[in-house]
Amino acid sequence: MGSDFNEWVKIALSDETFPRTFALAILADPDIDLLPLVTAAGEVRMAYFGRQVMLHRINDIQNGLCPEDCGYCAQSKISEAPIKKYPLKSEEDIIQEAHAAKAKGVYRYCMVSSGRGPTAERTQHLAHIIRRIKTEVGIQTCLSAGLMDQEQATVLKEAGLDRLNHNLNTSEAHTPDIVTTHTFQDRINTLKAARSAGLDLCSGMIAGMGETDQDIVDVAYHLHEYQVPSIPINFLIPISGNPIYDCNQLTPQRCLRILCMFRFVNPKAEIRIGGGREGHLRGLQALALYPTNSLFVEGYLATRGHSLDQVYQLIHDAGFEVAGDVSLSRDLTSTSHFQLDDNPDILNPQTTISSPSP
Ligand code: SF4
Repeated sequence: MGSDFNEWVKIALSDETFPRTFALAILADPDIDLLPLVTAAGEVRMAYFGRQVMLHRINDIQNGLCPEDCGYCAQSKISEAPIKKYPLKSEEDIIQEAHAAKAKGVYRYCMVSSGRGPTAERTQHLAHIIRRIKTEVGIQTCLSAGLMDQEQATVLKEAGLDRLNHNLNTSEAHTPDIVTTHTFQDRINTLKAARSAGLDLCSGMIAGMGETDQDIVDVAYHLHEYQVPSIPINFLIPISGNPIYDCNQLTPQRCLRILCMFRFVNPKAEIRIGGGREGHLRGLQALALYPTNSLFVEGYLATRGHSLDQVYQLIHDAGFEVAGDVSLSRDLTSTSHFQLDDNPDILNPQTTISSPSP
């Protein structure tokens, strides 16, 4: 298929919907060269977000103990992954961690709680914590707490919550292969409830769970239909003990194509590289900053990620800049960032000239 990248950029910068055939071709057609594709997606990103990258920090405020059966999740009732399980963290811990995130230049503090959804009582408690974070810390907030209705979403909105995260994760057709304890429609209903309550929406997907190109494109167009302004794209992190462990579908180039496709279909959205960035994009992480404009720092739910310093370095080296009030000054040009392996063999002793014997 011939690709007129100028035309694609023009469509993405207008209010027209990006044609579905082009979106599918980005994933499936090897004749669409990766570098011009990334450059074109980058043009769209620059038009809406310049060179800024928003940093998000997840706080896993409750881990494990979930009655749902999402096959990709180490916290589900059917996972055998040896994760640390704990009930909701204390109010003071959650607030202190918000202070720490802000001090590190994090733009948005994302609280994630395992479970099907909060009770009315839990919703009130979360609202109380959010109210304190907004007044005492003053940072953008996002909450991911499972399924909820409009009444609950309104309580959270009135407390000052900025965004509610609820990922679609995969297409409607593929959802029954991933989870049986709730439906795709349940997820859509939560997004509708949040929107009606006036909350900003955050919703994305997990790639690498055995889905087809069509499934991925379906998610991108669903999010376009709901005009979701924040879209995290996660790449399945294989966690031993989870039913969906390793579908062997992802390569760094495929991940990059998925991110570019999302940028063309949702040109104005904050597209975030979510979990799995380090392991799946590997050496192409810097290129992924062209289609996307947002990242997580310091890890995900059950797994570690790159440190804040590594992420700053990545952004700086690629010629982008961290969004928001970055109070820390980091010298990213210093040679202290040039790290060699500690292994002394790296100096290759065979080439070392020995001193002559006496
Ligand atoms: S994704 Fe959420 S709802 Fe599903 S098992 Fe994990 S914690 Fe539970």
